[in-house]
Amino acid sequence: MIPCPVCGKELNVVTALYDTPYFGKILLTSINCQCGFRHSDSFSAEIKDPVRFRLEINSQTLFSKVVRSTSGTVRIPELGLTMEPGPASQGFITNVEGILMRFQEIVEMAKRWNSDSDEAVRKCDLILDRLKGAMEGRETLTLILEDPYGNSTIIDDRVFMERLSQNEARDLKTGITVIDITGEDYLRDIINGGSQN
Ligand SMILES: [Zn+2]
Repeated sequence: MIPCPVCGKELNVVTALYDTPYFGKILLTSINCQCGFRHSDSFSAEIKDPVRFRLEINSQTLFSKVVRSTSGTVRIPELGLTMEPGPASQGFITNVEGILMRFQEIVEMAKRWNSDSDEAVRKCDLILDRLKGAMEGRETLTLILEDPYGNSTIIDDRVFMERLSQNEARDLKTGITVIDITGEDYLRDIINGGSQN
């Protein structure tokens, strides 16, 4: 039995496996308790090769489809912007313009939070300006989408795709807790009695 974190009584656990066109097999779990506690989550049940997609953002690619799974990291390197998976991150299907709009919201929020710093406000305004320019097709930027489980993609013939090395894939946040006991680090820790030096 799994006890409820709020009241300690037995939780009701429901799981369902769905086969989806872009995200592959998705495991949905929902837990709830008589006391009212509930939590639901989705996990990718498929693991493919780690990948990186790179697409030039310009007026021709603004409406290309972007499929970002819960383990996908989205970057615009020219602006230093990164959207990483987190515990509450959700997969989404959008287009390049939709990605720019999400970043716009994030930068606008950062600007409000840092409204007492002229320097921060000026930086945010610069980024917002360039995001707006890209949305209007005046500015060329790069969109990078990385996924250690290979469940994200950009649907466009002009996209450049490459496999990530194990090290690059390991550095990515996954949004999913993975306990890797087969990794070399773990083995080395055991061999050295928990110390690497
Ligand atoms: Zn409860």
